[in-house]
Amino acid sequence: MQLLKERILKDGTIKPGNILKVDSFLNHQMDIPFINKLGKEFKRRFEDCPVTKILTIEASGIGIAALTAQYFQVPVVFAKKAQSLNLDGEMYTAKVESFTHKKVYDVILSKKFLTAQDHVLILDDFLANGCALKGLIQIVQSSGAVLEGAGVVIEKGFQGGGDELRRMGIRLESLAIIDSMKNGSLIFRESH
Ligand code: 5GP
Repeated sequence: MQLLKERILKDGTIKPGNILKVDSFLNHQMDIPFINKLGKEFKRRFEDCPVTKILTIEASGIGIAALTAQYFQVPVVFAKKAQSLNLDGEMYTAKVESFTHKKVYDVILSKKFLTAQDHVLILDDFLANGCALKGLIQIVQSSGAVLEGAGVVIEKGFQGGGDELRRMGIRLESLAIIDSMKNGSLIFRESH
């Protein structure tokens, strides 16, 4: 998505550890009209899917999911990050290794908000190694719902998570794919 690539080049900064900061417009300060356009683009790409629910993970995915959900006219549910699990059987759970914080945490979602009748679109801000999305996919599988696909705003293609998910047969739409962030310069994958 050209508009997104231009914004990343204008406002994104590269940090040690292969971290791209886009916190001036995407996941700390949020440029709502801009994110709204990302939402419209997700809708265009998943137009043919009978989505009944958008699933994301707190915190950065929520704004993106909320603006996108307006176009699908469906609810958003977000998995919560829990430090320690107090399992009471009413929750779906999955383990996720945080890319940015390098620790394993549990994500939880109340069973009442995702059922076998749902058709789910998973959304998130970044895709790196794929742990966050895999945790969400596991939750969808536990619920018996149909996974229609997954959308991320920025895929760091060189970290492999996206290709692994595609190999698993997941329909994955990334609005921008970065193939390299070496020496302070960003290289995007063609046609994204
Ligand atoms: P993964 O689980 O795919 O390795 O990493 C995805 C998660 O880590 C996303 O939910 C996102 O919050 C965070 N993340 C991964 N890479 C980056 C990055 O380069 N910049 C930012 N801001 N977050 C990232």
